[in-house]
Amino acid sequence: MTHLTRFLNQIGGRPYESTTGRWLRSTNPFTGQDWAEVPLCGKDDVETAVEAAHLAFTRGPWPSLNPSGRGKLLRRLGDLVARDAEKLATIEVKDNGKLIAEMLGQLRYIPEWFYYFGGLADKIEGGVLPSDKTDVFAFTKQEPLGVVVAITPWNSPLLLLTWKLAPALAAGNTVVIKPSEFTSCSTLALMDLIKEAGFPNGVVNTVTGLGSEIGAALVEHPKVAKVAFTGGDTTGAAVYSEAARHIKHVTLELGGKSPNIIFADAKIDDAVKGAISGIFAASGQTCIAGSRLLVQRSVYDEVSARVVDFARSARLGNPLDGATQVGPITTQQQQEKVLHYIDIGRGEGARCLLGGGRPSAPELAQGWFVEPTIFGDVSNNMRIAREEIFGPVLSIIPFEDEVEAIAIANDSIYGLACGVWTSNIRRSFAMANAIRAGTVWVNTYRAVSFMAPFGGYKKSGIGRENGQAAINEYLQTKCIWINLGESVPNPFVLR
Ligand code: NDP
Repeated sequence: MTHLTRFLNQIGGRPYESTTGRWLRSTNPFTGQDWAEVPLCGKDDVETAVEAAHLAFTRGPWPSLNPSGRGKLLRRLGDLVARDAEKLATIEVKDNGKLIAEMLGQLRYIPEWFYYFGGLADKIEGGVLPSDKTDVFAFTKQEPLGVVVAITPWNSPLLLLTWKLAPALAAGNTVVIKPSEFTSCSTLALMDLIKEAGFPNGVVNTVTGLGSEIGAALVEHPKVAKVAFTGGDTTGAAVYSEAARHIKHVTLELGGKSPNIIFADAKIDDAVKGAISGIFAASGQTCIAGSRLLVQRSVYDEVSARVVDFARSARLGNPLDGATQVGPITTQQQQEKVLHYIDIGRGEGARCLLGGGRPSAPELAQGWFVEPTIFGDVSNNMRIAREEIFGPVLSIIPFEDEVEAIAIANDSIYGLACGVWTSNIRRSFAMANAIRAGTVWVNTYRAVSFMAPFGGYKKSGIGRENGQAAINEYLQTKCIWINLGESVPNPFVLR
C-alpha cells in the first residue's frame, strides 16, 4: 500500500491514469519527502487528450452553448475555487514550497479571473463593415481557435494556469493542460472543480508527465491550434520554433532580469521594502523578480545596508507556518542552480554582503533552502546581472543619474518588468516611458491584476495575458460576405 496521495488526470470528463502505468512523484520541498504521485503520461495519452478536446470543440454541448452560458460556468468555477481556496493552497504549498500566506492570497484572488473573463464571454463582438461595394453586406465574427494547449511552470501553477484557462474558455476554446512535472497536483485538484462547475466533458483535459516528451508532443499535434506557454526562454524558444513549423498561434510568457531602480529622492523606507518584495518574496522564484537593484550612488551605501539588514531578519521556515517569510526552493535541481550562480558571482568579483549558501539551522536541513543572498558592487556585465537565476539572489548596481539608470535597466535581453522608486512625478513618467518592459511599477512592486495586461518585451515573451485584450489571443476573425446583387458579375475580374 502506498502512503502517497494520488492525483489523477481527467480526459473527456473521466478520471484518467496513463497508458504507461507509471507514476511521477511529487516531493515536498520543505521535508524532502515524497508526498503525492501523478500519472506519468506518454505520447498515446497526449493523443487521447487532444482527441477528447477536439471532439468537445467540434460536437456536443460546448459549441452549442451560448456565450452567456460559458460566462455562467466560469463564474460558478470562480465560486468553487473561492470555496476550496484553503485546500488548493495547501496542496500547492506541499507541491512547490510557496508560503501558505502567499498561496491563500493567490487562491482568494484567482476567482476574480474567472468572474472577469466570465463577464467578457458575452461581450465578444464582431462588426458590420462600411462596405465600399453597395451590393454586398459584409460583417465580422470573432471565433475561438480550437484546441488550446496550456503549458505551465512550477513556480505558480494555479495562478499562471488561470491566466490562460479563463480567457481560453470565455472565448469558446477547449483546453489540454500540461502542468510542470514537479508541481502537477494543484492542477489536477482544480479539475474536480471544473467538473463540479458543469463544464461539458472534454472541454478541459490534463496530461501529466515530462515536458520534453509530452509537452513537445502536444505542441506538434496537428489538432492543436494554439499553445499558451509560461516557462524559461530556452524552452519557450523550442516551443515557438515547433509551433512555427506547424503555423500555430502562441503566447509566450518567459523569464526576466528586472531592474528595480531606487533614486535618492525616493521614500527610502518604502523603497527598501520594495527591494525585498522584489527578490525575496517567493524565494525569488518569480519571473518578475526585481533581481537587479539599481541604486543612485548618493544613497547607495545607506540603501545597501538597509536592504541587507531587512533581509537578514527574514524568517526562513516551514512554508505551511503562517509566520514564515522565506520558504524553500521548489526543486533540488533549482537549489543547485541557484547555489552555482552564487559561486559564479563570487568568481566574478561581486561582494557577497549577505547569505551565500544553505542555511545552517538544523530545522531547515531537510528542505531545499538557499539563504537570502545579496551581492554589492555588481557590474551589469557580470553573469549574475545578465542571466535569470530564479532564486533569492540580489545584485545591487550603482548608478549616477537618470540617463545611466535607463541605460543599465535596458541593457538586458529581457524586458518583463521594472520598478522605479522616486518622489518626483516628472521622473516617474520619464522613466516609465524610457524603460523597455511590459510592466513598469512606480513606488510599488510585484502587483498583478486580472484587468492589467501582462507580458514581456524582447526575450521575455510574445503576447499579453490579463486585461480585456487577452481574450483576443484566443480568438480569430472571420469576415463574412453576403451578396445582395441580382446576379453574379463578370467572373474573370476581382469583385
Ligand atoms: P521550463 O521552461 O523548464 O518549463 C515550463 C513548462 O514547459 C513545464 O511544464 C515543462 O515541463 C514544459 N516543457 C519542458 N520542455 C518542453 C518542451 N520541449 N516542449 C513543451 N513543453 C516543455 O520552466 P520551469 O518550469 O523551470 O519554470 C521556471 C521558468 O519559468 C523560469 O525561467 C521563469 O522565468 C519562467 N516563468 C515565466 C513567467 C512569466 O510569466 N513570464 C512566470 C513564471 C515563470 P516539465 O516541468 O515537465 O519539464
